Amino acid sequence: MSDFANDFLHRFELERAGVRGVFVRLNESWQHVRERADYPSALADLLGRTLAASALFTGNIKFEGALSIQIKHAGPVNLLFAECSSDGRVRGLARWQGEIADALRLPDAQPAPLLAITIDNRASGQRYQGLVPVEDTRLAVLFERYFERSEQLPTRVLLACGGGRCAGLMLQRLPGRAPEDDDADAWNRVGHLLASASENELLEVAPETLLYRLFHEEGVRLHAARPLSFGCSCSRERVAAMLHSIGRAEAEAALRDDGHVEVTCEFCNTQYRFDRVDLEQVFRSGQDLPAAPTQH
Ligand SMILES: [Zn+2]
Repeated sequence: MSDFANDFLHRFELERAGVRGVFVRLNESWQHVRERADYPSALADLLGRTLAASALFTGNIKFEGALSIQIKHAGPVNLLFAECSSDGRVRGLARWQGEIADALRLPDAQPAPLLAITIDNRASGQRYQGLVPVEDTRLAVLFERYFERSEQLPTRVLLACGGGRCAGLMLQRLPGRAPEDDDADAWNRVGHLLASASENELLEVAPETLLYRLFHEEGVRLHAARPLSFGCSCSRERVAAMLHSIGRAEAEAALRDDGHVEVTCEFCNTQYRFDRVDLEQVFRSGQDLPAAPTQH
């Protein structure tokens, strides 16, 4: 079996109900993310669900770049970050301090944390960011509020993590559809059907089987699967730009006894080494950068 069978994104429509949906499942790609650190189980669970959500949300938008979800300073969780690119590469990490309780409750943190969803459209150079207060322990509920508030799109989200996999299933009312076009309670009906799915079904059952099991009376139209895989966008150029941004003094202070600065990507463990000559180049090329625009 190829990875494709287990790391996929499926778009679908429920034609009778006027609803579109996305279903994702991550297996090997999630293992890659998970094994980067010795995550406490409650944090791994949260990271897996966030990673599944980041892939889920790329399903219904046309863009070239990456969509990321980030939570900072949420009690013992310093950072939770998950990203999926438009070509289906996922990466993610979490940083924490101290003990993580099995019943991890982000909303209890003071000050109240925010969840940020960022769409970086590399083709157009545009960046869009939406913020949601973390006021519920259920991530899926936060995402539903985000779509309802920022996009005015009625949305239902289910997320699951367990047994070495994570998964997500999302329904959205088709935009631009007038309420009178729908049979009055189609949206409520499909919402109830979605809620009847168990986390195990999301993690284990083949997508065709699951969607027909849940929505067989709603006219399921399933699009071809897109593969998802682990992938990192780090590069030597980006690390050089980071060294440049911290400044010559700090970069030189990081030189080790063997005369190298070593930078390890936290997402993929790739090591980048710069010696004195490389650093010279980093800062010399910096002199060619255009001057900052003057303020008026
Ligand atoms: Zn990397």
